[in-house]
Parts: sequence; structure tokens; C-alpha cells
Amino acid sequence: MESIFPEWIRACSPSGVSPVPFKPPSQLPIPGWFSEKEWKFLAKPELVNALYRCQRCGICRTAFLKEKGFERVCPIRENYSYLEPYSPRGKISVIRGVVEGRFDLEQYKDKILDIVTKCTLCGNCSDHCIANVPFYENFMVERNVNHTALFEAFRAELVSRGVRFEPYEEIEGKFKRYRNPYGENNKKRGKKRIEGKFLYFQGCTSSFRTTEIGKSARELLDIIGIEYSMLGTEEMCCGSILIRMGFVEEAIKVMKANAALLIEYGFKTIITPCAGCYKTLSLDFPRFTGIRLPVIHISQLVDEAIKKGRIKIDRLNLSTTYHDPCHLGRHGNVYEEPRSVLKAISNYVELLPSKNNSICCGAGGGVKAAYPELAEKIARSKVNKVLDMGVDVLVSACPFCKLNLKLASKGKVEVKDITEIVLNGLA
Ligand code: SF4
Ligand code: SF4
Repeated sequence: MESIFPEWIRACSPSGVSPVPFKPPSQLPIPGWFSEKEWKFLAKPELVNALYRCQRCGICRTAFLKEKGFERVCPIRENYSYLEPYSPRGKISVIRGVVEGRFDLEQYKDKILDIVTKCTLCGNCSDHCIANVPFYENFMVERNVNHTALFEAFRAELVSRGVRFEPYEEIEGKFKRYRNPYGENNKKRGKKRIEGKFLYFQGCTSSFRTTEIGKSARELLDIIGIEYSMLGTEEMCCGSILIRMGFVEEAIKVMKANAALLIEYGFKTIITPCAGCYKTLSLDFPRFTGIRLPVIHISQLVDEAIKKGRIKIDRLNLSTTYHDPCHLGRHGNVYEEPRSVLKAISNYVELLPSKNNSICCGAGGGVKAAYPELAEKIARSKVNKVLDMGVDVLVSACPFCKLNLKLASKGKVEVKDITEIVLNGLA
């Protein structure tokens, strides 16, 4: 492992000289203290809040409450010899160092890039931060600190300052040329059909990589009896990967173009089998463009269809467990519906830590694109846990998670999407 030079250790190590001495809340900088002109993406009250309310308590670094399945928080730090700059609080220190002019961006750009791009943007740090855990409420004056929004905004600052990262550039280039991050021909998305007020938004990964998920999702819609439309070659990337890599201006353009198209057709509801599209359409569209769209994930639709008897299922003689995709669970707050479906069709066993404590599969936030081995290593530790549990199938509800988990499983355990396992269990 490449060594971290002394300045970084001094700046970021809990045992070194802390660059962020504890200050009582009354002495902390107030939102607006640094200029919006200079820090276009970071100088927002909620992000300044995330940056300056960090008390360096270290809870986001540490394993705790093992009996509840909390073992660790940050999948990246665990894989970087627990080095401080790769921890959530270390990343916050690094960003503060840059914003405050203590770390020169030009001089240290390679190291800064290495640190901030090694983050899956999973949000587990936010869910463990003392700012967000009710147990600690007496210690904190500010609530709802969102670290992923902070890390994304910092990546956007780097892009706007011309600090470019090659793997991201490559994806952006493909996106500009093909309107999808895989550089694929959009004809592969399938035929356009406008047949109703429900839009099936397949997403890039299920159109070009996990096509089996796209196929089973469409079959399920037919079986449930939903008349749905598809945009075919007109469908474009939702913009998720652009936001995560810091190409926010590009992302806003594509989100607006997407929204204009969806509004023009007058769709009543958008159904997607992708956790990333779900998060982007339901949360990032309003955050960046002010446009609200009615979006549901296919697991929610299937759960309702089972409960209302619109599809009949036979219980499978299989044990299953569920990996919470970060974009659907922690970000989108969809935890119960996929579990309810799996409990209805199989012998379901909970994989701990789960729900908002679940550990990311390792693929998100551009990590799979930039550091495929790291992404696979993170997924492998999850797969190993599933192997220890001895269940038959590891199920997820995100094509990107499935890709990474399947690769890491090396065939030792079956990895399926929720749409596929439901199709298997139809009566
Ligand atoms: S978002 Fe996830 S990967 Fe990134 S610092 Fe937080 S816990 Fe680590
Ligand atoms: S838990 Fe929150 S306050 Fe504590 S070190 Fe981590 S980010 Fe800072």
C-alpha cells in the first residue's frame, strides 16, 4: 500500500495534531461564511453544516453494537488498513483542509483525488454519525447531516476546477456520445411502445448489462396486468452516475431533458427495476431541478400485487437473504417491501447488519468504474457472510449490486434480482 505522507497523517490522524479542534456549537462557522462564488457547490447551508458539525468523535469509524450486527461503518476504510483519510471523518477533514486553504489542491491533487474517489457514497457514515442518531441528541445541536451530499458536492468542485479523474472522464465521454455510461447503442434498449400511463423506465444497467433483470421485470408487469409504456431508444440515462462523479451541470441537463420527455407523454407513474434510477428520479430530480416525479420501485409494485392477489405464488423450497441496495434502502427508505415479497415466496433469513446499517456491495459512487478490484473485494466480504449463513440465494433489488455480488460470488452462492426470484415462484 502506498504510504500517506506525513502532512496527511498530521492533518487527519486522531493521534496527530487535529486540524479540527473541538469548538462549542456557538463558535462554529455559520452557513454562508465561505463564498458561493468560490465554492459554487459546497457553499450551501446543509453542506456547511455537514462539514463543520463534525465533532471528530470517531463513531463513523468504529465497529460497535456487534450484537445488532453493526460491525463496521465504512467499507472503504476497512479495506485501506483503517487509514484515517479513507474514513468518513478523515474525508471531512480533507475537504475542510482544501476549503480552508491548508491543503493546496494543485500540489496534492492526486492524493486528494485518491481519497475522495474511494467512497461508494453509501451513506452508512451519515446513519451512524452522532448528528443523526437519536441516542446522541444531547450532544448535537444540528441534525440530518448528509455526508454523501457533501462528498458529491466536493467532487463537483473538483470537476469545476478542472481537477479531472481519468476513469470518470472516460464515462463522461461515453455519456456525451451515447447518452448512457456504457457507450452502448440505444437500440438495445428495446422497442418504444406508448401504451398507457405507466412508464417502465428500465435504466442503463438492465438494458445493456443485466438484461435478464429487464426481461423478468417486463414479464412481471405483463403478469400483474399493467399496461406499460417504454421509451426505447428515447430512454436516456437518469443522470445518477454523472451526479456521483461530480458532473453536476451535465447531470442537470440530462435530468431536465428526461423530465421534459416524461411530462410531455403525461405518464402517471414511473416504474423502475433499478435502485439507482429510483433514487435519482425520486430524490435527485427534486434536489437539483425542483421537478417531482411519481416513481415506484418494482419491488413495491410486486409486493402490492402479491398482497392484493393480482399474482399467485407458490412458496419456493429455498432459503433466501436480502442485500439492501444503498440507493433503495438507506437513501430511498424502501426496506420492507422487498422483504415482504421474499417472506411470501421463500424461507427468508435476515443478513446482518441490515436495513440502514447494511454494508454497501462496493460498486456505488463510481468505485466499480475506477477501482473494480476494490469493489469486488468489498462484495466478497458480503458474499462470505452469506456463505456462512448457508442460504441458497442472495437476492438484491438493484442491477448494479447484482453485477458486483455475482462477480464476487464466483458461483459459490446463487445471486438473483428480486424480479427473477418472483418469476421463479409464480404459481
Ligand atoms: S459514504 Fe460510505 S464509503 Fe463513503 S465515507 Fe461514508 S461510509 Fe465510507
Ligand atoms: S460520527 Fe459524525 S461527528 Fe463523529 S467523527 Fe463521524 S462524521 Fe464526525
